[in-house]
Amino acid sequence: MYRTHTCGELRSSDAGREVTLAGWVQRIRKMGSLSFIDLRDRYGITQLVADEKESAKVNELVSKLGREYVIQATGIVAERQSKNSKIPTGEIEIKLSAVKILNSAVTPPFTIEDNTDGGEDLRAQYRYLDLRRNPLRRALELRHRMAHEVRNYLSDIGFLEIETPFLIKSTPEGARDFVVPSRMNPGEFYALPQSPQTFKQLLMVAGYDRYFQIVRCFRDEDLRADRQPEFTQIDCEMSFVEREDILVTFEGLVKNLFKNVLGIEYDKPFPRISYRDAMEYYGSDKPDIRFGMKMHTVTEMVKGHGFGVFDDAGYVGAIAVPGCACYSRKQLDELTEWVKRPQIGAKGLVYIKYGEDGIKSTIDKFFTAEELEGLAAAVGAVKGDLILMLSGAKKKMQVALGALRLEMGARLGLRDNSKYAPLWVYDFPLLEWDDETARFYAMHHPFTAPKPEDLDKFYSNRKEDLEQVNANAYDFVLNGTEVGGGSIRIHDSNVQERMFEVLGFTKEDAEYRFGFIINAFKYGAPPHGGIAFGFDRFCALFGGQETIRDYIAFPKNNTGRDVMLDAPSRIDASQMEELCIASTVKEDK
Ligand code: ASP
Repeated sequence: MYRTHTCGELRSSDAGREVTLAGWVQRIRKMGSLSFIDLRDRYGITQLVADEKESAKVNELVSKLGREYVIQATGIVAERQSKNSKIPTGEIEIKLSAVKILNSAVTPPFTIEDNTDGGEDLRAQYRYLDLRRNPLRRALELRHRMAHEVRNYLSDIGFLEIETPFLIKSTPEGARDFVVPSRMNPGEFYALPQSPQTFKQLLMVAGYDRYFQIVRCFRDEDLRADRQPEFTQIDCEMSFVEREDILVTFEGLVKNLFKNVLGIEYDKPFPRISYRDAMEYYGSDKPDIRFGMKMHTVTEMVKGHGFGVFDDAGYVGAIAVPGCACYSRKQLDELTEWVKRPQIGAKGLVYIKYGEDGIKSTIDKFFTAEELEGLAAAVGAVKGDLILMLSGAKKKMQVALGALRLEMGARLGLRDNSKYAPLWVYDFPLLEWDDETARFYAMHHPFTAPKPEDLDKFYSNRKEDLEQVNANAYDFVLNGTEVGGGSIRIHDSNVQERMFEVLGFTKEDAEYRFGFIINAFKYGAPPHGGIAFGFDRFCALFGGQETIRDYIAFPKNNTGRDVMLDAPSRIDASQMEELCIASTVKEDK
């Protein structure tokens, strides 16, 4: 037997017992005749002590140990003289009677402690060492608990976990596919699934009315910050449901996770907001509602005062930033520069300081103090607030003001990661026009149903009508991050064919790419709908972190590489030949 206990288990009530532990040497300190060793395993750290005066043999072995050696240690549990209240085993230590080196270790390239000295690249290269650190261990434990709770909860309410294939034909979700050459079918390729979307719908046709899967998905996107080319979804689908059934079912799942993973009882229904209102009040389709500071449209109110910037604007919006009327000239100049950055794209910033001792603004020339007070009241400001206003083209400035709202929320410490603010966003537009390719794209995906009341417009050939069609789609947002998205699906093959037509597919093209699903719908497809949650991000949010990488055991870096494996990499010429593929890249490496 290698061990009687783990390194996280022993307490003062175990004093006097003889135990054997196994683990990694985290640190060794010498003090006079004593040597102290921190022994680590997945469960914690236990202090071992060797006394030169008691056993020369043990002492000799201890003197050979180095960081990250794997050892087996036997001794008696004893109460510690100086207790360490920071760790659960801090009351005790093990007085060593025997030590066995199970394996030596070369010196690790960085310290394996909570706060390591290793940079990101180095830690990625030695991921297995980084994974020994507590923050990563805790992250993976949280991930496991989340997955476990999801499986329990959904199984208990009748969902079946069903696996779907990875080697498939491309199902567009708006990203590029990763492709895999087929050796047995020369010149042909599989695609890796961007999601199991079509399969889960086929499972509905097959009668499996409650499906889920914790599943890997693959999207060849230009990597934006904190995206992974392969990521995990909690993918779900249900039959004989309307939007309400889906929202209620998955609100149940999320509440259960809040309760069992975070210990948070969330007993109210989750708030809901339409896409249009989300844009109007938060300038975002994924509002962070941990704080207020809602946006107000004041376009009409501020026109006609001779201030050209407002008079010519399609949109003027304002937020009241609590307690910031005291901002200095310098702070306001800095904010003005902030909104003018190309990512935000505002031409300038108008401010009103609604101070205790009067009102002051950049637009004093055009508005009387009473008018400014009226404006302050209209945007819900109270004395002490700073009102910030942006103007210009509607959509662009709504988004810009939304970004400014988030920035001010962050600066005021209102985006507190220990708080959880869930939200449903619904009624997204079905289609998005793309000027460059001069065609519509599905905002969610091509299987999303238009709202029944918009069907007339859906069959119209006028662009303006099609732009107004709402989708029966919804997103689940947590703390300003889109964590889930889904929709009620089209289940009528004629509507599905119309959808492909609207998206600019010829009949033949639609048939070639999606014939299988259009066809399946002809054999009795039930009304159905579903949702998928981004599992990695969900875990990160539950862990109170912004970045998902810590919640994935072996993630890719932000250029899509696995630096530990050094992948992707070239393959042998013979392998290429066998696969009947050639590379257009010159051999220059
Ligand atoms: N397949 C969709 C996605 O990956 C989710 C869904 O509609 O259920 O976003």
